[in-house]
Amino acid sequence: MTTENGKRLQDIGEFGFIDRIRKGCVVRPRNVVRPIGDDAAVFTPDADRLTLVTTDLLVERVHFLKERISGEDLGAKSLAVNLSDIAAMGGEAREAFVSLAIPDSIAVTYLEAFYNGMKELAAAHAVNILGGDTTGSRSDLMIAVTVTGSVPPAELLRRDGARPGDVVFVTGWLGDSRAGLHWILEGTSDLQGEDRELVRAHRRPRPHLEEGRFLAAAGGVHGAIDVSDGASSDAAHVASESGVGMRLFGDRIPVSPALRNFCARNGHDPVRFALAGGEDYVLLCTVSASRAEDIARGFQNRFGRPLHRIGEVIADRRMELVRSPGTVEALHPEGWDHFKKKPSVGG
Ligand SMILES: [Mg+2]
Repeated sequence: MTTENGKRLQDIGEFGFIDRIRKGCVVRPRNVVRPIGDDAAVFTPDADRLTLVTTDLLVERVHFLKERISGEDLGAKSLAVNLSDIAAMGGEAREAFVSLAIPDSIAVTYLEAFYNGMKELAAAHAVNILGGDTTGSRSDLMIAVTVTGSVPPAELLRRDGARPGDVVFVTGWLGDSRAGLHWILEGTSDLQGEDRELVRAHRRPRPHLEEGRFLAAAGGVHGAIDVSDGASSDAAHVASESGVGMRLFGDRIPVSPALRNFCARNGHDPVRFALAGGEDYVLLCTVSASRAEDIARGFQNRFGRPLHRIGEVIADRRMELVRSPGTVEALHPEGWDHFKKKPSVGG
């Protein structure tokens, strides 16, 4: 007899699976005409707003190792990376679509946990899960998530608006996720306290949707991106899209106490480590110098933590890192490029 734990998708069938997961997918029914279950999902977009669409494809052994991440964490993270892209555009996230290619070896309980993790994060941000597709896969699990969002036209944040003289900010600590990945690869069974926080930063990134809306509505934000490849890479993306350069200050790079200790114990330069770390999913933005102080103060009041001022936009198209007064190093984009680098194992 097959136990519940041992059940595979072929035991319950695609329709049986959809029946199991569809509960709790619609959390904001007002604009939904047809949810999961028809030939196509139907919803009304938000009037007078631009529609944002983002999609991400996650492949086992390229982006994650299934054995090293729980179903809940993988589900939540697969949605979080898309929500982070909506946040980077200043938008509110609205509808999500989730497609999976599922190898025979995966237990239904893992897939249900995957959806539970995803639904929990979706509900926290009033995002409906309105559809998707499931199919078989020969060996690897593949996850394709598409998310729509909406933003008032005047509040759209983009990568290409940074101007010389702008102040560069980030909305949270950098590098924790990279240190968490280190522990996931080394083994996490006997980790304590703050090292567990680092692992959590990698497995359960928090999309900065509220921070993105705050920045978009504040006015004066010229360029924005979410930090997924590593802050030095993502800063360089904004600079090159905008036709400018950036000067970052090493002593301003926000490094958490946990990461500072991790770097001290493992012989890393915390500034370089934090700037090269991928999958932070905080936002990096450039703000008109005349608005910078106001926005930073408003951010502190609203969120109870600082908006970190890490640098400035310069007219010269180069990336610099100031280590101490008078000591300037070239800042080479470092971080993840899935066509060049090893897998970002762990999700
Ligand atoms: Mg992005």
